[in-house]
Amino acid sequence: AKADGRGVWRYFEPAMNRRLQERRLLELDMRRALAEGQFELFYQPIMDVETRRVKTFEALLRWRHPERGLLAPDLFIPVAEEIGLIVELGEWVLRRACADATRWPPGVGLAVNFSPVQFQSRHLVAQIAGALCDTGLSPGRLEIEITENVLIKDKEATLAILQSLKALGVRIAMDDFGTGYSSLSYLQAFPFDKVKIDRSFTCELDQSRKSNAIIKAVASMCDGLDMTVVAEGVETEGQFEALQREGCSEAQGFLFSRPVAADALPALLCALNGA
Ligand code: C2E
Ligand code: CA
Ligand code: CA
Ligand code: CA
Repeated sequence: AKADGRGVWRYFEPAMNRRLQERRLLELDMRRALAEGQFELFYQPIMDVETRRVKTFEALLRWRHPERGLLAPDLFIPVAEEIGLIVELGEWVLRRACADATRWPPGVGLAVNFSPVQFQSRHLVAQIAGALCDTGLSPGRLEIEITENVLIKDKEATLAILQSLKALGVRIAMDDFGTGYSSLSYLQAFPFDKVKIDRSFTCELDQSRKSNAIIKAVASMCDGLDMTVVAEGVETEGQFEALQREGCSEAQGFLFSRPVAADALPALLCALNGA
């Protein structure tokens, strides 16, 4: 007579324990990785559509895991957010990226991704001001990319943070535009300088008249709002030509380059901009 509630629980327990255990191992692993310098930044160029030269490099985090190889951020950032490690990891990213950017030509900007969890830290503005001050990077070269998830939580507090960042001279970009629920109302309420149209719109550009119309409308709206429009995920010349036609000012994607390690940037700049 084991067919009672406990029997049922016993059945599920091992699987649940295993998942918790894996999570706890990943946690330990990640803390050690940060201490031992296993994280790396790759950079992907964002191109000026008109001149087809590099305008900005976006920093994209990678984890060079000793056993599992090079890991993409989707595999570990959600856990880092869950355990709060993203605040420390995000500060490492920012400082590393600002330091790297001081070695680029001064006309080239730096874009850094921020997690909603970082916006819950009271020290965010001081953290960013400190990184700029310590590395000597001019604030006008730094762009902070956030998704609308940042804006959902506490609108007043977030607006205050964004205004402080603007006062520092840093620019703000809305990432993954068009994938959330209230992107338009957020454009009105928050001081964005730039809108990054999500890859899901760009990748249809060749085949679907709808995507062309959406991109054209977003570009013309942003023009009226004095915001720059970037299309993400540009993979073909056809897509690039359509973007040009529809009035997008910047473009990012594998067509120009995949994300590359920091020490490959001088050669990449040469190849893309010409010597
Ligand atoms: P994201 O900010 O939207 O970054 C763009 C992602 O699209 C990158 O993936 C990039 O490699 C990929 N991508 C760029 N061009 C193309 C293209 O032409 N085709 C396709 N198929 N993909 C393209 P990645 O590097 O794996 O980053 C994934 C996400 O992880 C990022 O999305 C961002 O949300 C997050 N992330 C990356 N680095 C950081 C970081 O330092 N901090 C935080 N909080 N999040 C980060
Ligand atoms: Ca981004
Ligand atoms: Ca994006
Ligand atoms: Ca994304």
